[in-house]
Amino acid sequence: MSVVERQEWDVVVIGAGGAGLRAAIEARERGARTAVICKSLFGKAHTVMAEGGIAAAMANANPHDNWQVHFRDTLRGGKFLNQWRMAELHAQEAPDRVWELETWGALFDRTKDGRISQRNFGGHEYPRLAHVGDRTGLELIRTLQQKIVALQQEDHRETGDYESRLKVFQECTVTRVLKDGDRVAGAFAYERESGRFFVLEAPAVVIATGGIGKSFKVTSNSWEYTGDGHALALLAGAPLLNMEFVQFHPTGMVWPPSVKGILVTESVRGDGGVLRNSDGKRFMFDYVPDVFKDKYAESEAEADRWYDDPDNNRRPPELLPRDEVARAINSEVKEGRGSPHGGVFLDVSTRMPAEVIKRRLPSMYHQFKELADVDITAEAMEVGPTCHYVMGGIAVDSDTAAARGVPGLYAAGEAAGGMHGSNRLGGNSLSDLLVFGRRAGLHAAEHAAGLAASRPRIDDDQVDAAAAEALRPFSAEGGEPAEGPPENPYTLHQELQQAMNDLVGIIRREPEMKQALEKLAELRVRARRAGVEGHRQFNPGWHLALDLRNMLLVSECVARAALERTESRGGHTREDHPAMERRWRRINLLCRSADPTEGLAATDPVHGQITLTHETTEPIRTDLLALFDKEELVKYLAEEELYE
Ligand code: FAD
Repeated sequence: MSVVERQEWDVVVIGAGGAGLRAAIEARERGARTAVICKSLFGKAHTVMAEGGIAAAMANANPHDNWQVHFRDTLRGGKFLNQWRMAELHAQEAPDRVWELETWGALFDRTKDGRISQRNFGGHEYPRLAHVGDRTGLELIRTLQQKIVALQQEDHRETGDYESRLKVFQECTVTRVLKDGDRVAGAFAYERESGRFFVLEAPAVVIATGGIGKSFKVTSNSWEYTGDGHALALLAGAPLLNMEFVQFHPTGMVWPPSVKGILVTESVRGDGGVLRNSDGKRFMFDYVPDVFKDKYAESEAEADRWYDDPDNNRRPPELLPRDEVARAINSEVKEGRGSPHGGVFLDVSTRMPAEVIKRRLPSMYHQFKELADVDITAEAMEVGPTCHYVMGGIAVDSDTAAARGVPGLYAAGEAAGGMHGSNRLGGNSLSDLLVFGRRAGLHAAEHAAGLAASRPRIDDDQVDAAAAEALRPFSAEGGEPAEGPPENPYTLHQELQQAMNDLVGIIRREPEMKQALEKLAELRVRARRAGVEGHRQFNPGWHLALDLRNMLLVSECVARAALERTESRGGHTREDHPAMERRWRRINLLCRSADPTEGLAATDPVHGQITLTHETTEPIRTDLLALFDKEELVKYLAEEELYE
């Protein structure tokens, strides 16, 4: 019989990054009693690390910008695989979400005439990123937290309790979404500090847990990006969409080894930085693909003129979408034209005066000075690709953010799939999480209100099973004699990261992905014996042992889907299938858990835990297609779509 503490809420939001906080604010404002739960400290999420800005067609820096241009850029960036309705809502609503932040106290950088300043970024036709130097995410999170506190103060005035309608549980990790039949009924969690288990009962749960980068060795992501939300959704019975699309940001630090992968913001290129190889050549001019040929400059002179006169010149190729730039850097290094530490050179020192660099890129200046002893006002940075973002994610309804097939489950932010297609444009994540965080909170609150009279119930067996699963690493003495000795979770994690980096990384090949799947099967078997010593009070080894289940599930989705998609598109590059194929534009790949209740306890871990199916994408609405030239559509759309 379970003795785990239970609390009743209307909406539970898992994750306190931008998506989670925006969802929680909306749910609370719609009258739902809302709990937010986050694995890290409140305020420490990936959103806080965002540097360059929030993409929104406010037309402050160029009057020609509007939502239609933003929509067009987003679809081009995603190579037309985006869930187009999401891209439409995103482009239409992003400006309101930025203005709203300002009314809640966000202080953006300004144009000379006092409006919110907007900067250039790869793939965006006009300067579009609202920003605060290169620390935009910090201001975003500060503002959302301030709004949460303001709502709690309001609640205190009315009820005498700050946390009566909106409560944050920080440093608590959710390991299972709980259900009543098909319906969501709450979440099972443990407190990281004490190891105490507890259950938050609620008819609506929003997953806003961010990405999966910690499955890869070289990544800009920090420790909490272990794909928890993706795995929670899978295990609750929801499918994941197009998991093969993983973004390798072109510019991460490459030296010293201890900081390899840390992000070098795209603002460096947006503000004039150029990429050079070891011969000093601006090599990106050699890598403009046919689909973008008419939109990017052919000479350095034209590219440089664009910064002052964007209406009469084409953009520098350094501002191509990220997938193109990452592949180009990879090729240069492979051809032997890399920098001493295996990257290429990114230079602002010869492009801007030192005081401008320090003002516009303060974090980058300090990051290189302190971590690499490089003064970016006087010398070039060394950079190379780093695993940064996952475009794939929980399959959701575009309008409501409801996860497919599980009533009461919602997803927003990086954990949700579809919005960015095969490749995300810089700045589109912060706007995505505001737009769809709000929508998820709104619809979760409405769903909960509709069930006020018939709330789902969680039976004790489910809670006991979740507790037993969480305690498993303490009793991993090796199981059956044949199974072998206990395994160290850190070793397993390192082997997983190495395998994903080497075998399912930026350039993919069939034999290597098959090898990766074999390695994942081996790791799954060994992860059942991931053992930890000590007790439940703050025990990072135990936490990692639990995260392994999620990373293994998500990595299998990435590898399986990457093997299945025999073309190259956006964040998925196949050396053995280098072309983008129009017939694949109509195909989404969906991953489902083969054995949702079991997780790592599945009877036969050697067999994959994922089933994969094809699904035809919804035809793009004709008024949206009319925003593109016919010649351009011919490059992307399948034959039958053009005919239609
Ligand atoms: P996050 O902000 O990461 O929040 C996830 C939350 O979920 C955290 O609170 C975490 O603790 C919690 N969580 C995770 N698992 C669990 C669990 N099991 N139980 C409970 N809680 C859990 N995008 C842009 O648009 N513009 C930029 O300029 C930009 N710069 C970036 C710079 C860096 C260095 C990085 C890493 C990313 C950048 N991005 C940028 C991407 C963007 O920051 C992220 O995609 C976005 O912030 C994700 O927000 P989120 O709310 O979905 O997740």
